[in-house]
Amino acid sequence: MICSLCKTNPLRYGTLCGACTLDTLAHIRRLPRMWSGLEAWLTPGVRGSAQYGGRVRQVEAPLPLDTEVLTLRAAGGIVGVLEDWRDAVRDSRGLPEWERIGSLAHRVGTAAGYLAAQIHFIALWEQGPQLGREMRQLVERVERVVQPDEAEEKGQPSILGYCTAVDLSGVICGSQIVLDMGRPVQCGWCQCPYPPDTWLQLRRLQPAPSPTDTTGELAAA
Ligand SMILES: [Zn+2]
Ligand SMILES: [Zn+2]
Repeated sequence: MICSLCKTNPLRYGTLCGACTLDTLAHIRRLPRMWSGLEAWLTPGVRGSAQYGGRVRQVEAPLPLDTEVLTLRAAGGIVGVLEDWRDAVRDSRGLPEWERIGSLAHRVGTAAGYLAAQIHFIALWEQGPQLGREMRQLVERVERVVQPDEAEEKGQPSILGYCTAVDLSGVICGSQIVLDMGRPVQCGWCQCPYPPDTWLQLRRLQPAPSPTDTTGELAAA
């Protein structure tokens, strides 16, 4: 028998090999932190008074940065997948029901905590490989959002970053800057130009995956 998740390691018992069990546990434990970290990508941020690019126009409202972030953060995203698996584990063990109550942040934490505590059961469970696969997919989806370089390698449109132009009220534009080698790069929303010699700095000014880093970066700019 070969582990059906990694399709590499032999299985002595159970349904997940040792390496996949540890990976799955690590993914489950990372997800609540990743869920919180996505907040930095949900709002462009309103701190800092950095002017950028010279030509800055009034922006009425900051735009959501990425619908994938919204999807992952919504009730059916990371939270929903974790809770569905928690319920599946619970059902198959005949344990009492859990209510889906409290804030989404609370629900992500409790569902992930429950699954992490059940990892020994999961490693023996016939649905373990599918659970492991879905946890890995969730982590990869979050990583694709916070690491645009990876998406570029996979041939998706090149996103230089998010517009760092600040309007008069101090709100950062935050629109996606798409790299098109055929014409001068410019923010499609506020028209702020991004000539090639500004790209490195733009990359440096992007919100960090962790919300604690974001304000420091922007404030220092
Ligand atoms: Zn494996
Ligand atoms: Zn802009």
